[in-house]
Amino acid sequence: MRRPLVAGNWKMYGTRQSVDELLSGLNEQQWPEEVDLLVAPPALYIQQCHQMLEGSPLRLAGQSCAFQAEPGALTGEISPAQLRDAGCEFVLVGHSERRSLLGETDEVICRKFAAALASGLRPILCVGETREQYDSGETADVVGRQLQAVLDTFGVGGLSQGVVAYEPVWAIGTGLTATPEQAQDVHAMIRARLAVLDDEQARCVQIVYGGSVKADNAQALFDMPDIDGGLVGGASLNADEFGAIARAA
Ligand code: PEP
Repeated sequence: MRRPLVAGNWKMYGTRQSVDELLSGLNEQQWPEEVDLLVAPPALYIQQCHQMLEGSPLRLAGQSCAFQAEPGALTGEISPAQLRDAGCEFVLVGHSERRSLLGETDEVICRKFAAALASGLRPILCVGETREQYDSGETADVVGRQLQAVLDTFGVGGLSQGVVAYEPVWAIGTGLTATPEQAQDVHAMIRARLAVLDDEQARCVQIVYGGSVKADNAQALFDMPDIDGGLVGGASLNADEFGAIARAA
């Protein structure tokens, strides 16, 4: 019923040269047909990716977007409409690095979610708790709050036009991965929360896991019933590893 989705977040890595090499490696991979596949390059390299990935099943995502859909005086920002114009179909919103290092609030993230939808992009809403919040048993509250900010405006129907990425902050870029069972518990909690509002739509929402997903742990995570794939950071910078992760979904 739900298609698996595997997304690569290249973060602020790459040069024209290294992106060229990565794309060549990606173009040599065997991609599974039944999986939605995408990469989120730094914005400067989206055009290069668009050209080199012509004919590939890999689709493009922005790593962030402006909080307004219309053109305007927002120096340094990239609108979701511009991402769409450059060939993107998805955009990450609320990645934890942007929440914690760039001060993005739930309110701003909700506006970005709205602007993305208004521009015809599918937003990938990232949610997740910090180590301290995990240790003090606050995961459900924190993730619930982050989701609620978007649900208040869009409901489950709106959320299901995007994707939810559960990314425990303590697992991002740390080499620590939630166990498949830990991740499944949170994914099931998210789906149950959505089901209270709209059971049918809740079953359709793609919920992917992120946090040190690698070729050697992907299969066990993706085998869990509520884990619909992965948002992959570091490991997506290696074409063979990203290919292996995609084939595990
Ligand atoms: C991410 O950037 O969203 C991420 C999950 O990174 P990593 O896979 O490196 O932990």
